[in-house]
Amino acid sequence: MIVAGAGIGGLTAALSLHAAGIDALVIDAALVLRPLGVGINLMPHAVRELTELGLGDELAATGIPTAEHVHFDRHGNRIWGFPSGLNVGYQWPQYSIHRGELQMILLDAVRARLGPDAVRTGTVFSSYSESQSGVEVHVRDRRSETVSVLAGDVLVGADGLYSGVRAQLHPSEPAPRWSGIMMWRGVVEGAPFLTGRTVAVAGTNASLKFVAYPISRRAELAGRALINWVAEVAVPGGSATAADWNRRGRVEDVLPWFADWTFGWLDVPGLITGAPQILEYPMVDRDPLPSWGKGRVTLLGDAAHPMYPVGANGGSQAIVDGRVLARSLARTLASSAAPSSAGPSSARPSSAGPLSAGPSSGGPAEGLAAYEAARLAIVNAIVLANRDMPADRLLQLVSVRAPGGFGRIEDVLSAAELAAFDQAYRSTTLPDVAELNSRPSLTP
Ligand SMILES: Cc1cc2nc3c(=O)[nH]c(=O)nc-3n(C[C@H](O)[C@H](O)[C@H](O)COP(=O)(O)OP(=O)(O)OC[C@H]3O[C@@H](n4cnc5c(N)ncnc54)[C@H](O)[C@@H]3O)c2cc1C
Repeated sequence: MIVAGAGIGGLTAALSLHAAGIDALVIDAALVLRPLGVGINLMPHAVRELTELGLGDELAATGIPTAEHVHFDRHGNRIWGFPSGLNVGYQWPQYSIHRGELQMILLDAVRARLGPDAVRTGTVFSSYSESQSGVEVHVRDRRSETVSVLAGDVLVGADGLYSGVRAQLHPSEPAPRWSGIMMWRGVVEGAPFLTGRTVAVAGTNASLKFVAYPISRRAELAGRALINWVAEVAVPGGSATAADWNRRGRVEDVLPWFADWTFGWLDVPGLITGAPQILEYPMVDRDPLPSWGKGRVTLLGDAAHPMYPVGANGGSQAIVDGRVLARSLARTLASSAAPSSAGPSSARPSSAGPLSAGPSSGGPAEGLAAYEAARLAIVNAIVLANRDMPADRLLQLVSVRAPGGFGRIEDVLSAAELAAFDQAYRSTTLPDVAELNSRPSLTP
């Protein structure tokens, strides 16, 4: 199998395929995979998958097991909060973690398990062609500027927001859709705040919002916090620059919006000016697709379903995609190898190796169709729910009713409105606790 893209999704897919007894080669356009980005949250459903891939200890040594998620108004007054991860009953924590460190954990595991050459960097996906027996993937080597063809049984486009695989599958798609919100992001070391493991969200997406959470276990062990922050500014009528995760932002573009956001428990201007580097990114997604792939080609992660980071679910859903993809392919492989044996879910391929060749309509294509059938509707619903931002409507209500702040939230929101918060957040972000804890493993 060829996986285009060595991000969180592509690397998890490679590990999952390997665990299912299926070979994978991962290509990435980057010359060197470096720990880029700032913080992301891994929700319990993703932590479960990485734990089952044997990475639980690395996650625990790297990220912060999030204790709670709390909303505040733009003056730092607490509106509402709820416990997270283990504290709410999941068997797996939620981790706030540096995106680049997570990628390096996955990369090291892929190289250790699949071999040192399993990830080929500096290799740009250009196009593919499919035949009855496989796919030919045309790539460009950025070091030699040569083009070559890689042959595989299946192609998985895990190549992110501007996926070339998606562009070939869906050629008439428009550019990503901008929400009207600009995000500036940074990481800075500071004193722990609140529980030391809190995701704090102040303000509202209707105007200004600031999110802060600690992401480093090493800093925590040293009595400090490596604080990830995201400053979001709604710019009605504005136009966004192209989305680029590595674009540098300027302190003078973001600081004025938050200059007086000094709370007793958090110094927002201090976090902004203290960050060694600021990144700028427009909040974008794409309209959900009615289908992802065709034949022996599919999509995964941001290539399939880029979403607003409202429920902190982009990386988590990419991880689940990889696991379901591997399970679906392994089941197809097992059932075509032993059609008369017990149900496909109990079968597992006996050795690592390529997928059996076969016509496009059967074999691997069937596995990819099963993967898409299992994932597409679920993830498309999350993309749309994130656009809707139901919890944010309640935050806006607070800013309208109490623009200067408040003493007791019960004087601002009714009991029913407060209860709706809980439902609004969970409905877009988290699976039911009992459901996640009790569902069978995705390991084939
Ligand atoms: C450099 C970078 C920094 C990021 N920083 C953050 C962050 O700070 N916070 C956050 O929430 N999210 C961040 N993200 C996005 C986040 O990782 C994803 O939303 C989520 O994890 C889903 O991951 P993915 O694997 O689907 O896509 P991505 O993580 O975007 O990975 C896609 C991969 O595909 C590769 N690629 C792209 N085009 C080609 C091509 N033509 N040929 C071969 N390879 C290709 C890219 O180099 C990249 O490694 C970042 C992504 C990147 C690439």
